[in-house]
Amino acid sequence: MKFSFNVAAIILCGGSGQRARLGYNKVLHPFSGGSAVAEITASKFSFANAVIVVYPAADKNEFFEMFDGSDVILVEGGNTRTDSVKAGLKAVPTNTHIITIHDGARPFVTEKVIVSSIETAHKNGSGIAAIPQVNALRRKCSDGNTISADREQFFSVQTPQSFDAGRLIEAYSKIDGVFSDDAEVFEKAGNAVFLSEGDENNIKLTNYRDLAMLGGDVRVGFGFDVHELIPGRDLILCGKKLDYPLGLMGHSDADVAVHAVMDALLSAAGESDIGALFPDTDPKYEGADSIKLLRNVRKKLAEYDICNVSLMIIAQKPKLLPHRTDFITNLAAALEIDSKRVNVSATTTEFLGIIGNGKGIAASCDVLIKKN
Ligand code: MG
Repeated sequence: MKFSFNVAAIILCGGSGQRARLGYNKVLHPFSGGSAVAEITASKFSFANAVIVVYPAADKNEFFEMFDGSDVILVEGGNTRTDSVKAGLKAVPTNTHIITIHDGARPFVTEKVIVSSIETAHKNGSGIAAIPQVNALRRKCSDGNTISADREQFFSVQTPQSFDAGRLIEAYSKIDGVFSDDAEVFEKAGNAVFLSEGDENNIKLTNYRDLAMLGGDVRVGFGFDVHELIPGRDLILCGKKLDYPLGLMGHSDADVAVHAVMDALLSAAGESDIGALFPDTDPKYEGADSIKLLRNVRKKLAEYDICNVSLMIIAQKPKLLPHRTDFITNLAAALEIDSKRVNVSATTTEFLGIIGNGKGIAASCDVLIKKN
């Protein structure tokens, strides 16, 4: 995105997060991948000649840490949106032609919407992102009755809202009081307000449901393990001892299924594997109950919620389906999660290879975890 004129972007990051039930400013909430909402939103305007982020005084430290080393200009906001915009305007460079103002809590804004707003403002003096009404509208009358309204005449206003810089600064210098948006201030100063192309996905994150859409810091993990079946050992899968003439060979109880789950979890969290964590050279782990080791792994991942565990056990024999519920119950209990978040399925290899000829059992596991 490049313009032949200078653009300054003001990103408004006020808000307490009360409606989002967070107890902190929702623009500090992490997006999938780890960056906060405010960072993602500001990054959409990195094309601008100046990016001014207006933060609430209470969150000063968080904002300085978040934008440490970036070109973003940080400005402390006021008590109202109008005061915060006024503070942001003071930081706009003098050679600016267009000022574009955007809510920090609208991280899904697209390049198309930004370009439309800025170009409309460059042409007409103002460009306000807006979308048509999709619902039928009714107007309230004083007697409690309602009458139908022509929805073609109404638009839902979003941000960005872009303006001729000189005229916007002048408009703000004239007003006092609280206004719902910049378009209203611009209009009150006698300027015409033009609409530009909005987007229904350009939502303002407001409630807890909106934040859930961000996904948070979500990570996938994969684990795989194989053990040999030999006589003279117990066969233990998912912590359950099965009635079978052979058992799995290994330093621990050789619970191949639990080993795959542990490796998947450790991998998702960016940790090393169970071989490094519980070395088979350490006598401490001789005959170890793998379910206990799984509990240790769970403790290690205390900063994560386990979204789901999907385990596949690959064995020609014995039949595993009758044990499925016990497997799920044991894993869910060790992981301290609802059993609905755990699934165990089984397959054979159609008598092919070392598993097909009954010499071993393998397990493969995928997990999804989320930073809490
Ligand atoms: Mg193993």
